[in-house]
Amino acid sequence: MNVLVTGGAGFIGQHLCRTLLARGDQVRVLDNFDDAYDPAMKGVPPQSELVRGDVCDPAVVRACLQDIDAVCHLAARAGVRESIENPEPYGRVNVGGSLTLLRAMADRGVRRMVFASSSSVYGNAGGPFRESDAADRPASPYAASKRSAELFCAASGLDITAARLFTVYGPGQRPGMAIARFVRLARQREPIPVFGDGTSQRDYTYVSDIVAGLLLGLDCADGFRIVNLGGGNPVPLTELLSAVAEATGEQLRLSWLPVQPGDVPLTHADIRVAQDWLGWRPSVTFREGVSRYVASFRG
Ligand code: NAD
Repeated sequence: MNVLVTGGAGFIGQHLCRTLLARGDQVRVLDNFDDAYDPAMKGVPPQSELVRGDVCDPAVVRACLQDIDAVCHLAARAGVRESIENPEPYGRVNVGGSLTLLRAMADRGVRRMVFASSSSVYGNAGGPFRESDAADRPASPYAASKRSAELFCAASGLDITAARLFTVYGPGQRPGMAIARFVRLARQREPIPVFGDGTSQRDYTYVSDIVAGLLLGLDCADGFRIVNLGGGNPVPLTELLSAVAEATGEQLRLSWLPVQPGDVPLTHADIRVAQDWLGWRPSVTFREGVSRYVASFRG
């Protein structure tokens, strides 16, 4: 299959491209190497074709869809806290770019897509979150942008799986994410800023499990459908800290700070749809994933 991966030079995208190539697909990447974090961390495997361009540019997107059978749409501004400080790119890229892509796909007759949505669409509701839960109280512009893009996908009439990803981690992850920050600061023996009282919980999902779920979502896409891809097992912040201490062998110096705007107390995926529909279940345990991440960590 010829697959276009938007945002393919980013954290999840790089893992996804390698897996697509390994299973024999041809891969074209559309990515503008934005400066949300150090672009030097971005890249694509040499066997893939790279188009450096903007998913908001209709001519570029149209050209990228030439001879493409299916699309993995990952290009976005990610990050909840940053979206509160600076919401504009979230609307422009996450909503506008998605709409540009959907229109170009309809024009070109490319019908199949998996879209990287987010657990943040569930807002402050108590978990476990089910796909049928209301998602109309986003707690951040990022969450609002992902929900908006889902709705444009639903309205497109195309075959689109919207995969709601729950805190993805693993080698190459964005440096602003908690695990990356904690490991970096632990290694540097610097104080670690910790927001809240340690009781917040996240449903962490290792990146190889996410890639497997995205590909199943792509291959099974039929009409519009939403699916949670999460570990199914929320981890308290205090447990994350102890896993980082264990995997790095460092004694952590913690600096406790108030909860940040936009942070939700809990994410918890109900993964029965992924299990029943896609036959997907996460395979990497949290402790194993953190230790793999620490082993891969440089810098
Ligand atoms: P990332 O920032 O590493 O990857 C996003 C990529 O999109 C980057 O390479 C960036 O250069 C590219 N991009 C941004 N704006 C673009 C534009 N206008 N045109 C073309 N390319 C553009 O983030 P990631 O963690 O790999 O996340 C990938 C996707 O998964 C995103 O859509 C994100 O919202 C979603 N997601 C991630 C997580 C997570 O925990 N990492 C959780 C839920 C959802």
